[in-house]
Amino acid sequence: MKHKFKVLMFSSVLALYACDRKNDTSEHSSASKNPTIQFNADHMMKHLEQFQDIAQQHGGNRAVGTEGGKASANYILEQAQKSGFTVKTYAFQNREKTVGQNIIVEIPGQSEDKIVLMGAHYDSVKSGPGINDNASGVAVLIELMNQIHQNKIQPKHTLHLAFWDSEEVGIAGSQDYVKNLKSEQLKKIKAYINLDMVGTKNPDILIADGDHSSVDEMEKMLKERGMKEADYKTLTDGLRGLPTHAGDLALENHLKDFFKQKNLKIKEDLSILTASDTAPFLGKVPVSSIILFKEEMKGNELYFAPCYHQACDTIDLVDPKSLKLAGEALNDLLGHIE
Ligand SMILES: [Zn+2]
Repeated sequence: MKHKFKVLMFSSVLALYACDRKNDTSEHSSASKNPTIQFNADHMMKHLEQFQDIAQQHGGNRAVGTEGGKASANYILEQAQKSGFTVKTYAFQNREKTVGQNIIVEIPGQSEDKIVLMGAHYDSVKSGPGINDNASGVAVLIELMNQIHQNKIQPKHTLHLAFWDSEEVGIAGSQDYVKNLKSEQLKKIKAYINLDMVGTKNPDILIADGDHSSVDEMEKMLKERGMKEADYKTLTDGLRGLPTHAGDLALENHLKDFFKQKNLKIKEDLSILTASDTAPFLGKVPVSSIILFKEEMKGNELYFAPCYHQACDTIDLVDPKSLKLAGEALNDLLGHIE
């Protein structure tokens, strides 16, 4: 997850207040038509131990272009090759002229023409090992891949698992991938689901605001607080101007239902869509994201979770229950995509 701009940091915190009240929406059944995939927390923690070791052996991080980054890519490739699924790699250059590498695993489903793309960035910042941010999302995707392989599951849709590089530097990996997709390929993608920071203990469940309803709430609250329109208009206009897809809202509602059935409190947020690998997909395909945050303000800085972008973003702070929850949310969402 990338740092947000100051206005976005501000907006996010406001959106949290604004949307707390909205958690009493209707109940829906979330019966899944997709084969159920069990996510084993121990397996996912084993992957995180590997990424932790990789960082420790390579100067404390797994950043794009570094030895730790390359070792992380190799670990993902090893896992993918064991599964026997088709693996494609795509090299690209980020704004710092560093070469990164996206890894895409293709899992054939019952339909070849309908693809669900899921992604998690595997690079860390240079200042830490990036275990919650975002080896956690990577571990969930590897576990999904391994469970499908070991249990010979054929998913409803063809699944493409994307392991993005250089998210922490310019969201460059996913951007490069989207830039090179042809329109026929884009049409086949029924959803892009992003996983970023899904190991947080006692998380706040942030749901990507698919229909931008949180902007109205935010505006109303700013008015009530006596803020002048001129002072917030750039922010609210900017958020309203984010591209949307007609399919965004359905994904948002499925995720909301899932977490509500678990009696977990959810918060709608719009700016998170611009702060991770969802950004390049906005307006092009239906987009959603699974992010388990623990937001706190320290002075003027927003922290998404304890030890965010720091050397202490280690396995010690990861809750296996959160990883499992993210996996279950992903599986539930997969079952709802037509
Ligand atoms: Zn990050």
